[in-house]
Amino acid sequence: MKPFQQDRREFLQQSVMGAAAGLTIATTSHVTAQPVAESAKVDITNNIDVLVVGGGTAGHVAAIQAGRAGAKTMILERNSQLGGTTTTGGVAFPGLFDAWGKQIIAGIGWELVKESVELDGGAFPNFAKVPQHHWQNQIYTNQFLYAVLAEEKCAQAGVEIAYYEFPQTVTHTGNSWQVDCVGFGTRRRVLCKQIIDCTGGAEVVGMLGFERLREEERQPGSYLYMMGEHHEPGRNQIHRLYVHGADSSNSRTATEANLTGRRTILEKVRRENKRLMHLQPETGVRETYRILGETMITVNDYTDGRVFEDAISHAFYPVDLHTKTGVKPKPLKRGKVPTIPLRALIPKDSRNLIVAGRCVSSDRLANSGLRVQASCMGMGQAAGAAAALAARTGTTPLSVPLGDIQALLRQHGQIVPTQS
Ligand SMILES: Cc1cc2nc3c(=O)[nH]c(=O)nc-3n(C[C@H](O)[C@H](O)[C@H](O)COP(=O)(O)OP(=O)(O)OC[C@H]3O[C@@H](n4cnc5c(N)ncnc54)[C@H](O)[C@@H]3O)c2cc1C
Repeated sequence: MKPFQQDRREFLQQSVMGAAAGLTIATTSHVTAQPVAESAKVDITNNIDVLVVGGGTAGHVAAIQAGRAGAKTMILERNSQLGGTTTTGGVAFPGLFDAWGKQIIAGIGWELVKESVELDGGAFPNFAKVPQHHWQNQIYTNQFLYAVLAEEKCAQAGVEIAYYEFPQTVTHTGNSWQVDCVGFGTRRRVLCKQIIDCTGGAEVVGMLGFERLREEERQPGSYLYMMGEHHEPGRNQIHRLYVHGADSSNSRTATEANLTGRRTILEKVRRENKRLMHLQPETGVRETYRILGETMITVNDYTDGRVFEDAISHAFYPVDLHTKTGVKPKPLKRGKVPTIPLRALIPKDSRNLIVAGRCVSSDRLANSGLRVQASCMGMGQAAGAAAALAARTGTTPLSVPLGDIQALLRQHGQIVPTQS
């Protein structure tokens, strides 16, 4: 186990920031200096079982599953709402829950999508029919309603949500974690047994020094907006603009992606003389880091529909790699349904740590299909189940009997792959 250690430069930067923050200059005649230690004091400590970092597509599902399984669970989300790319990114078009005429992913993600579509008076595709194009079975979802419903489900599952916060240091202490988090006006210490990293780019895995994979050239992101016509949430497609080089792995590159996307949209508004009717708050990012897991899903595993012996969820989508010139989805051969093994969610040689979402351990081409939302939700639910059981039995997710994880998933409505 490699504990996360700050390097000296980072430590010095923090000390300087801490000192500055500790000095309060009042508007008139007096100056109050607080000791640095006082300003750096923790405001609140949470002693919990499972910490989910990132409340996006995979993260809120993971947390709801862990909460429903009886684990004391918290989500740390740096943004202002749940859903991540599905809601804040505006990709409210989740897929694919079905393959070759039947449903293959269900559980908590499906429950949320279904309830939000029903509440919104929307429509579902007919899963019994194999569509001509894969996207015809994706589901128009109202991003606003979805985010609110996700909060309600978290509350019902007893999951605490901490918005505008992210981990600053993560330390292994005996058999548990100490995660020191910052938000504006808040310093929080979380003591937990298990961490689920659902940050999209495996941020916590990176902080802890476990290996992550990243390509020199990554898929473009897209900024979602609507120009010239209304965006009716849950009903119509939204306009998309490629943002090449978009990278959400740090605040500087995320800022750059947002500035570039919005500047280009402004130019379009001026050029085409149309009204800007809708603009998402941030760029949707397709690719940053993937983990190096206990196993790696290759594109052959993916396209062959390999049923892993430790499969915990299905996945289904064409191989879908966006490049500078666009995308040409490569559909899977008839009858093939890929699966996701538990070991692809576990950073190699780690303990008490699991991931879910687009950072799943996979080669780049396999990842281009695995990264879609229904698959991320399936991974989220599996990670939530594994972490909750590990916390309950005082072990690590890889040591929980696979049958127990699969049974818990089935109990909570998920479809678990079986060897034929
Ligand atoms: C433009 C675009 C179009 C797409 N089209 C489709 C489509 O049509 N259908 C489909 O199913 N899929 C589509 N996808 C893929 C899919 O939407 C994403 O791959 C998937 O949503 C990723 O889920 P995730 O949970 O891994 O990450 P995200 O949903 O991005 O969630 C990550 C969350 O972690 C938070 N976070 C990150 N770092 C930290 C930190 N350090 N501390 C706290 N919080 C943190 C983020 O704010 C975010 O909420 C598309 C993706 C993009 C970008």
